[in-house]
Amino acid sequence: LAKSTARGQYAFYSHELEEEALKRSKLTTELRFAVEEQAFEVFYQPIFRLDTRETVKAEALVRWKHPERGYVSPAEFIPLAESTGLINAIGDWVFKEAAMFAKALRGSYAPDFQISVNKSPMQFLTVGKLDWAAFLTNLDLPGKAISVEITEGLLLQQSQEVNARIKKIRDTGMSISLDDFGTGYSSLSYLSSYEIDYLKIDRSFIINLTTSSKNQALCKAIITMAHELGYQVIAEGIETEQQLQLLSALGCDLGQGYFISRPLPQQDFVAWLASSLSTTQLAEAAAG
Ligand code: C2E
Ligand code: MG
Ligand code: MG
Ligand code: MG
Repeated sequence: LAKSTARGQYAFYSHELEEEALKRSKLTTELRFAVEEQAFEVFYQPIFRLDTRETVKAEALVRWKHPERGYVSPAEFIPLAESTGLINAIGDWVFKEAAMFAKALRGSYAPDFQISVNKSPMQFLTVGKLDWAAFLTNLDLPGKAISVEITEGLLLQQSQEVNARIKKIRDTGMSISLDDFGTGYSSLSYLSSYEIDYLKIDRSFIINLTTSSKNQALCKAIITMAHELGYQVIAEGIETEQQLQLLSALGCDLGQGYFISRPLPQQDFVAWLASSLSTTQLAEAAAG
């Protein structure tokens, strides 16, 4: 079949590559249609204080409601949305949903509730149609109600452009969370050149936290460093009670993960909040 030369191997694989390209263009067409139809749904995952376990924030995580495949994970379509430029339309829609939900929760659940919204690199570096700050003003919602999650890769370039955009976001009162911290880049120098508010320790450090003394040392160092720089720390992917307790002992401020709750559809999130609230109230009643 395939020749042993590089050229031959290319010929061997080209059929697969062609199929890949076809799949991609089909998915792009479907995604473009989904944007027109707004065939998305925002799920919310609680972010809680590690000391009191009180839910004080949530992360907005988009899903694509695909007619045949059901909910499609953002891990599958965000990269495509990024490369096709559809990301801004999707991101603006997610932002509007999240802002309106934050408004509702600040009225009904907690006056300082905050929702974080992910902004991928292309989305961060290009200008979408929606002026987020103006949307918040029209909603009569303070910037503090929203945190924008960006990833490390953006900060590596040490660019004036990125700095200016971060500043612009923070000037509106919105905060900046540095997502997936610790993955892929070892340079820490950029951390001191930007103003951020939250640092999110990537799930890969949390997975074997209780058995890996090295990961414990890394988390401890990250938490100490972040605090020295004036950032709060959020641990991602907490799946066990042990992980939660260990991170709390290490001084980590906040956490999110399947142990407390998976991302939930909006209505389920509201119901979940109500039940977790009544549990807290029960505990308070029992104590007092
Ligand atoms: P992320 O921002 O790092 O979000 C955290 C991901 O970890 C979510 O995956 C969440 O469901 C998952 N997760 C949370 N807790 C646990 C846990 O305890 N165990 C495990 N195994 N996983 C956990 P999800 O929802 O599939 O999102 C994947 C990524 O897609 C996000 O990673 C984010 O980078 C991107 N994304 C999601 N929504 C949006 C959006 O609206 N806009 C943009 N630009 N990107 C988005
Ligand atoms: Mg995120
Ligand atoms: Mg993350
Ligand atoms: Mg992540």
